[in-house]
Amino acid sequence: MEKYEIVIGLEIHVELCTQSKLFCNCAYTFGASANDCTCPICLGMPGTLPVINQRALEFAVRAGLAMNCEITTYSKFDRKNYFYPDLPKNYQISQYDLPLCRNGVVTYLMDGETKTVALRRIHLEEDAGKSIHAEVTGDPTRSFMDFNRAGVPLMEIVSEPEIHSPEEAIAYCRAVKEILEYIEVSDCNMEEGSLRCEPNISLRPRGSKELGTRTEIKNKNSFQELLVAMEYEVKRQARILDSGGEVVQETLLFDTNTGKTVAMRGKEEADDYRYFPEPDLVHVQIDNEWIQEIQPTLPELPASRRTRFIEDYGISPANAEYLTATRQMADFFEEAAKLSGEPTICANWIMGDLSRLLNTAEIELIDSKVTPSHLSELITLINNNTISGKIAKSVLDDAFETGKMPKQIVEDKGLAQITDTSEIEAIVMQVVEENPGPAQDYRDGTKKAIGFLVGQVMKATRGKANPQLVNQILTQVLSAD
Ligand code: ADP
Ligand code: ZN
Ligand code: MG
Repeated sequence: MEKYEIVIGLEIHVELCTQSKLFCNCAYTFGASANDCTCPICLGMPGTLPVINQRALEFAVRAGLAMNCEITTYSKFDRKNYFYPDLPKNYQISQYDLPLCRNGVVTYLMDGETKTVALRRIHLEEDAGKSIHAEVTGDPTRSFMDFNRAGVPLMEIVSEPEIHSPEEAIAYCRAVKEILEYIEVSDCNMEEGSLRCEPNISLRPRGSKELGTRTEIKNKNSFQELLVAMEYEVKRQARILDSGGEVVQETLLFDTNTGKTVAMRGKEEADDYRYFPEPDLVHVQIDNEWIQEIQPTLPELPASRRTRFIEDYGISPANAEYLTATRQMADFFEEAAKLSGEPTICANWIMGDLSRLLNTAEIELIDSKVTPSHLSELITLINNNTISGKIAKSVLDDAFETGKMPKQIVEDKGLAQITDTSEIEAIVMQVVEENPGPAQDYRDGTKKAIGFLVGQVMKATRGKANPQLVNQILTQVLSAD
């Protein structure tokens, strides 16, 4: 591989979460009964007329602004002709020479380093239906069509070929996904196919400026599969070039079972599609005023939020990256940090125990019963010595289960620390009496023997004694006699 430079460009397809489809009023719900979400327009019946969904345009503009694109003030839709059973019109309404957005930039983080990828374009098109084959129907002689997905607004984000490793490609895709989630234009659910990544890969001799012949890998909807597929394809191309062969420009399918790519179809060029302007739709004119209206509705984006978290809350870059991975987590952190005035402690709780609870329960932060107020109250209880850090963990577990406020849990379960000196003193005396050995060791100069005695006192109080106080009283008692 030292001989070659890897060149990757990505096409990312995202289903927009508009209420209705791109050119008709149908609502699309993933998992609905086959063909329930259809009408004559998205079924491609002759004589029907599409109408552009304004919300879909708005979402594309949001994405364009979030990814630093120029918004094309005058754009249009085109017909891309091809035959496929899931495309009843025999053409897909897409955008050819005048995409909605051009020349963007996406900033992403890899191993703590900030990198950028230029975007060629972002355009809108309609999604196709789905063929249902023998694997699902059990009948190898017939296939069925489900057109529910036909006409769902798809946004395609096309990068320049300037990514140089599979790992960078994944980091870039993650950054795009984060941005799309922040700006709320798609649920980005990869398992349900809302976000699909297609890498184009080529190799060239190191130092060469010319691009090598590329292959495209179809529709990867998991980052893990995407990574494995790209790594495999890079090696396959290197072997071909090493043996003096030529890479054929084609579209490949990566088979997860065999771990190999297989040719799906020869690569078609734009000419093959006979693009022409969609005659049934008006041109799209996006005026500056509308862009100015959309701009302020964008939230703070992950990259700048990360920087601000580091600067405003003094947390580490690694923690900032973790906490800004989703907008919900970033909002949660920020609210808890403000309420408690303890950003670093909040970060630790969120990244540690709260994340552990979420993972075990397999739920998202947004569905959790623990709110920023819970976390803030918990931290206050630790800070004012009502409970120890250890007890706090069990209080959080309880709050996670029941949604009860920490103060209430501490009261109900009698978990408040014993801070009454005389009460602790009595227990300390008893422990010293019952453990003459370690007590004597301490007096003889083995100072670490006190640890055992502290442990016994904590045990006797079921963890509720204030450990510092216990330590202090023990030292006094042991030095006194
Ligand atoms: P299409 O695949 O639809 O024909 P393009 O030619 O615009 O469209 O390219 C699609 C993607 O392929 C872009 O993301 C681009 O960066 C990438 N790409 C183009 N040429 C190469 C190449 N030689 N090596 C790697 N990626 C490439
Ligand atoms: Zn419809
Ligand atoms: Mg392509």
